[in-house]
Amino acid sequence: MKNALVILAGGKGTRFGQKIPKQFLKIGSTNFLDYFISNLDIASFDIVNISIDKKYQKIYFSDKEFSKKIKITYSKPGLTRQISSFNALKNLKKFKIKNVLIHDAARPLCSNKLIKKIISKLDKNNNAIPYVEYNDRQLIKKGKYETKVINIQTPQGFNYNLILKEHIKYKNFKFNDDAGLLQKSKIKLNLIKGEKNNIKITYPEDINLFKLFKRPKTKYGIGYDIHQIDKKSKNGLKLGGIKIPFSKLIGHSDADVVLHAICDSIFGALSMRDIGYHFPNTDKKWKNADSSKFIIYCRNILREKGYSIVNLDINVIAEKPKVNMYVSKMIKNISTLLRIKNSSISIKATTNEKIGFIGNGEGIAAESIVHITDDKIS
Ligand code: ZN
Repeated sequence: MKNALVILAGGKGTRFGQKIPKQFLKIGSTNFLDYFISNLDIASFDIVNISIDKKYQKIYFSDKEFSKKIKITYSKPGLTRQISSFNALKNLKKFKIKNVLIHDAARPLCSNKLIKKIISKLDKNNNAIPYVEYNDRQLIKKGKYETKVINIQTPQGFNYNLILKEHIKYKNFKFNDDAGLLQKSKIKLNLIKGEKNNIKITYPEDINLFKLFKRPKTKYGIGYDIHQIDKKSKNGLKLGGIKIPFSKLIGHSDADVVLHAICDSIFGALSMRDIGYHFPNTDKKWKNADSSKFIIYCRNILREKGYSIVNLDINVIAEKPKVNMYVSKMIKNISTLLRIKNSSISIKATTNEKIGFIGNGEGIAAESIVHITDDKIS
């Protein structure tokens, strides 16, 4: 194999002051390890080795999807970063790889562009180490003169055999990163420009920087619903949670097509099947149920998953009654239920031009499109 990636996710993060290691801390819809991996262009690698504690792996990292696309292997973290890195390299030995990139899970913002640059540099060099330089004046407290300081980042790229050899040689020494081993052996570091965004999350306040630099996840969902009009009834229609003096719709719950379409669009955006799955019409619990409950359930799921609604666009298709006069009331009600601004909701009412079953007054339909984001994470 040619290229391997080692992700060191075994750190305990003592400077972070949290019970669970920082790389697994839930931030919006993600955590640092999950964010890095879900943005990773796996085509750059033949194998990924994750150094992770088994107990955390079970709770915070599922390779279900990931392992279908790329070979993945796990190694045991050690007491120090250096031991974790060494364990990972030993674990990779059987795969006969040429190059290895060693990365800290605490740097989730590293771009694929930087990864590709490091890999390409390894064609002609036995190492490629990213660095950044800050233009703030560096003050050496006890020194007499100013000196140039550069900051070394990860991922650090190496010829696999070379870095393994160095780890064996210095296994009783203590280094903060893998490039340090090469320096000890006086091997010239091939420094390449890193990225200022590729920060190492060390202290709780660094989370704000992560939020600032992360790429937001956005998703869209579509929903559609239709119910038959109960022509024998004169009253009881509910659309968007608003009572309308018109024949009611037939359904297991209150048959509110607008709220049902919204629910389905939210479930769709979250890839969580549909309303019938969450509220089966065979369940007595939902008999004549107020569909507002379904909307509140969706609101809570969105929140749980770290998403919020950007906007919601709804069409109501009915020959009768005149839905337009209830639109602003519906918007107000839906915005209250979902706890979003009125201006994030649009409801358009249309007829079916007397064509088909909606056109001849047999039923009322609604469709909804929702846009959600994890950008407004708290
Ligand atoms: Zn329905």
